[in-house]
Amino acid sequence: MNAFSSPVDVVVAGGGPAGLATAIAVRRRGLSVVVVDSGTPPIDKACGEGLMPDGIESLRELGIVVPPAEYFAFRGIRFLSGGKKAEALFPHGHAFGMRRTALHRVLTEHADACGVSMLWQTSVTGLHADGIRTSRDLIRARWIVGADGSNSRVRRWAGLDRQRREGTRFGFRRHYRIEPWSDFMELYWGDECQLYLTPLGRKEICLASISSDSHLRVDDALAQFPDLAARLKGAEHTSSERGAITVSRKLRRVYRERTALVGDASGGVDAITGEGLCLAFRQAALLADCLAEGDLARYEIEHRRLIRRPSLMARMMLLMGKHDSLRERTMRAFESKPRSFAGMLAMHVGEGSVRDFVTNGISLGWQILTA
Ligand SMILES: Cc1cc2nc3c(=O)[nH]c(=O)nc-3n(C[C@H](O)[C@H](O)[C@H](O)COP(=O)(O)OP(=O)(O)OC[C@H]3O[C@@H](n4cnc5c(N)ncnc54)[C@H](O)[C@@H]3O)c2cc1C
Repeated sequence: MNAFSSPVDVVVAGGGPAGLATAIAVRRRGLSVVVVDSGTPPIDKACGEGLMPDGIESLRELGIVVPPAEYFAFRGIRFLSGGKKAEALFPHGHAFGMRRTALHRVLTEHADACGVSMLWQTSVTGLHADGIRTSRDLIRARWIVGADGSNSRVRRWAGLDRQRREGTRFGFRRHYRIEPWSDFMELYWGDECQLYLTPLGRKEICLASISSDSHLRVDDALAQFPDLAARLKGAEHTSSERGAITVSRKLRRVYRERTALVGDASGGVDAITGEGLCLAFRQAALLADCLAEGDLARYEIEHRRLIRRPSLMARMMLLMGKHDSLRERTMRAFESKPRSFAGMLAMHVGEGSVRDFVTNGISLGWQILTA
């Protein structure tokens, strides 16, 4: 028998961070909602597992406070490249290093407490005039949200696949049992690959590699950083290696009629920014407002605004990754003027006005030219 024989206000296809956050935000506005996901919670995914301060703030705005046992607080970001080092503290607060499974558990528990209905191990198989088809039943709903990740089928079914730009890179991650040696997230820049190291707990770190080469695994990337490899030598692996793609994608439209996209399904920025989760939580809150008002045109306009800053940061970081001499000069500028790195980090986590953004960008550009 269909547990959802009466229509709901919103059905969300995909119960990852974006789908769950949207469902929570929708419930907070008094609408009924069901989330459908093919996986079994807690759902894991290859990720750098850093939640930036603006992401924590977005969660707080959704009423979600992460219990301290679930995260390791870190205070800033450190870049390491060719023997050079630049680091800065976040302008306010700290970030969380947090296992994806822990984040998923926190979100599902909160969703449950808010009255979100969740259907796991159930695939969404198509759109229907009255809602969505699943591997079990038809779910009738007034609004449909596609939160089914970067390979979104809802996007395709809704005819929203037209895009402005696309770039795909490949990420792998592995966990190690080792005491973190700092309370910074470290980003190691290598030849056409980057390694992210995120402290996750008193005795655990997450190491994620990102590159354009689908065959380049964590150990291949590590071979470019002998000091780091020596530090991790002999540390027990607390997970097996897991991979995922990261796509830079700008869609022309993020809604059609009563179907809207959120999170990676709605386009995204390269994983190098560490901003995917924050962006998803912000879009979730915005989408819930727009669904409650019945105004998806506003969602599309504001969605474009939300993605602007992270996609600019992503482009700058990808340029640094691609061009050795630019990276060398930028690192020299950061090393000699630590305040410029702090300014970039502040922009990265959404602090400061557009004017600060332009001024900082111009001043950094000048320092790079003269470095
Ligand atoms: C290597 C790497 C490192 C990253 N590091 C960071 C980081 O440090 N910090 C950060 O903020 N972001 C990071 N990101 C980005 C972040 O992981 C994503 O932005 C985030 O997972 C987006 O969440 P989502 O819910 O949109 O998609 P997903 O997490 O992909 O969730 C989609 C869900 O939809 C479900 N689904 C898909 N199809 C169907 C279907 N047909 N029926 C039912 N269910 C379906 C899936 O089971 C899944 O649960 C990283 C990404 C990568 C690849």
